[in-house]
Amino acid sequence: MVRYGLDAHVRATPVRRDALACVALPTCPLAMAEAERYLPSFGRAVERLLATHGLRDLPLVLRITGCPNGCARPYLAEIALVGKAPGRYNLHLGGDGRGQRLNALYRENVDEATILTELDAAFARFAAEREPGERFADFAWRAGLVAASAVREGSMRALAWDPEVATQEPALLDEANAGLERMDARRVSSGRSATCRASTP
Ligand code: SF4
Repeated sequence: MVRYGLDAHVRATPVRRDALACVALPTCPLAMAEAERYLPSFGRAVERLLATHGLRDLPLVLRITGCPNGCARPYLAEIALVGKAPGRYNLHLGGDGRGQRLNALYRENVDEATILTELDAAFARFAAEREPGERFADFAWRAGLVAASAVREGSMRALAWDPEVATQEPALLDEANAGLERMDARRVSSGRSATCRASTP
């Protein structure tokens, strides 16, 4: 295999070896952003950041899809980009890389420069604070990079959009929406977009 150059899976860095992307543009009519064609350059950028922080040889699962349908299973990746529009992605962090824990939305509808800035800061903390053998996504949860608020936010959104809650538990609906208002206020003050609300039918 070495003689015929078929050993890239052995020589590749962990990011390249384990990365995955869907076909997205120009093949998939549902794609809102690049994925397969974008993965090589974005993967190299991630590798450069990792190398900057002395993390180049650590295992890291990176996935990109061109839309939220998630054909490359981005929601299980340690770092995932989910396409929102040309050049813009939702950045997810925190899948365990073994397919047993979903990641969480970390930054919404951001461009490459913002994504790399966020990852640079996260890798810097990871390099400084990681425990022996700890993977990036496990650190992201332990250190609060992927905040518990992401889990609470998901629960509240599910609650707010549950038709039974809307009709039978208006107080619970109000409570869920009030929580979402508070989170959105924080989101907007930090430059992120707010989201929509459910209402009593
Ligand atoms: S994730 Fe979206 S863009 Fe990618 S192949 Fe699936 S449907 Fe198409």
